[in-house]
Amino acid sequence: MIKVDNIKVPLDYNDEIIKNLIEKKIKDKVIDFKIFKKSVDARFDVVFNMSFLVNVKNELRHKDLIYAPKNPLTVPKSTNKEVIIVGSGPAGLFSALILIEAGLKPIIVERGKDIKGREEDVANLLENKVLNPNSNFVYGLGGAGTYSDGKLTTNINSEYNSYILETFVKFGADPDILYEGLPHIGTDVLKKVVTNMANYINEHGHIYFEHELVDIIDKKIVCKNNDKLIDFNFDYLILAIGHSPKDTFKMLYEKGLFMEQKPFSMGVRIEHKQELIDKIQYKKYAGHPNLPKATYKMAVHLDSRDVYTFCMCPGGIVVPSMDSNNTIVTNGMSYKNRGLENSNAALLVNVNTTDYESNNPLAGFDFRDKYESLAYNDMYKANIARLEDFLNNRASSKIGHVKPSYPLGYTFKNLDSCLPTFVSSALKEAIPLFDKKMLGFNDPDAILTAIESRSSCPVRITRNEELVTNIDYIYAAGEGSGYAGGITTSAIDGIKIALKVINR
Ligand SMILES: Cc1cc2nc3c(=O)[nH]c(=O)nc-3n(C[C@H](O)[C@H](O)[C@H](O)COP(=O)(O)OP(=O)(O)OC[C@H]3O[C@@H](n4cnc5c(N)ncnc54)[C@H](O)[C@@H]3O)c2cc1C
Repeated sequence: MIKVDNIKVPLDYNDEIIKNLIEKKIKDKVIDFKIFKKSVDARFDVVFNMSFLVNVKNELRHKDLIYAPKNPLTVPKSTNKEVIIVGSGPAGLFSALILIEAGLKPIIVERGKDIKGREEDVANLLENKVLNPNSNFVYGLGGAGTYSDGKLTTNINSEYNSYILETFVKFGADPDILYEGLPHIGTDVLKKVVTNMANYINEHGHIYFEHELVDIIDKKIVCKNNDKLIDFNFDYLILAIGHSPKDTFKMLYEKGLFMEQKPFSMGVRIEHKQELIDKIQYKKYAGHPNLPKATYKMAVHLDSRDVYTFCMCPGGIVVPSMDSNNTIVTNGMSYKNRGLENSNAALLVNVNTTDYESNNPLAGFDFRDKYESLAYNDMYKANIARLEDFLNNRASSKIGHVKPSYPLGYTFKNLDSCLPTFVSSALKEAIPLFDKKMLGFNDPDAILTAIESRSSCPVRITRNEELVTNIDYIYAAGEGSGYAGGITTSAIDGIKIALKVINR
């Protein structure tokens, strides 16, 4: 089998067209083929850029193209280790899967609930405006990734990428993620995938839901389960707690875990009509049934700050992803079909550690808290503004053709009142520059929702070259360690840490 890259395929393709294009490129007869990679190339005419695995008549004529699949991930065997993982997000789940492959029986403790319980709490937030600080859009089975777009893109070229994609497919994700250039699972499918993963982990180890880590005493953790305190002994502990639980970070810091301040980012969510984004990106091809919903990723470097778009969710909604009462945090979520009216993306400005008010390692959390509290309105209504009004330093008085999708209601406010001044002014400087890259981005009716403050962790848990913390039997994995961000990167980090534990 050979691998043929960089074939430009028209949008209205069929097998015969593809076969002819491959034959033209390799000048040989194609027996059969399957898609290896597929992405949209919209730089000139809009086409697909595709790679194929091909069976050809004369394979030996194409020696330099012969396909050598990467070695699958091999996990060494291990015995007699009690490993406890705190958190069932991507880092915790993938750590557990690797430990199981090694023959171990990992235990996960998770402060949130399984999907059924989590859905009830999310519904209670959406319908009755009651936030459960332990079970919400960020806490519970699957972690912060469950109510998300499930984008699996990562900047890291890791040997574990294909294992992660194949594992998601094994547990129920659509196989198209194996070849799509911008793979995404969608929240509807993710809920089933993480439930299947949890069932599998429970066959080999155990997940304790509604168990919040509240203390560590030597090689014992103490978890709060409703009103009870429950102990678990361990040989190795993997903290996969994400970047949200300030209370847990505080406890860990007081227990002597070394941490350092880390920069993060803050800004707003911006919503456009998805139709507009499709038109900007695909021009006359917008709406073509074979094209995915269009996406974008932009950055500008100003004199003082960097401004960039992040976590763009085509055809999705802005969701309330706070974990504490009287705060507002927003993020974005889509279903597999990305079929809703608006696109949304984070519009972020870098926050430096010099912006924090003290040298305390946890000062980034205080900075974050301050603005998440300023963004709060009665009953979790979000502050929103039309883009034109934001750029003119005023509160909006009406919405235009873009309707805010944030589900808990909104109030019109001058967003300068809940953002650091440097964030507000950098956004105002950057938006016209983004419009030069994507003409039409500066839609006066685009909606800004405040605030977006959880794109990464404001603290890093110090790890040595063996990836262990200053406490020899405690590891920190995933986004909360400060070394990873996003679903795939956190899963990669979880795998790396599990392998280190196995090799101890
Ligand atoms: C709405 C939303 C949309 C997103 N969309 C995307 C996307 O499309 N693509 C992408 O790559 N990334 C996305 N992200 C980011 C992504 O979800 C995170 O980067 C990823 O989930 C981090 O994985 P993690 O396992 O390190 O931590 P998390 O997923 O945050 O999981 C940590 C878990 O630890 C648990 N926990 C915390 N403290 C304790 C404690 N004391 N005791 C017990 N359990 C505890 C939490 O309940 C949580 O379940 C999104 C995030 C959000 C909020």
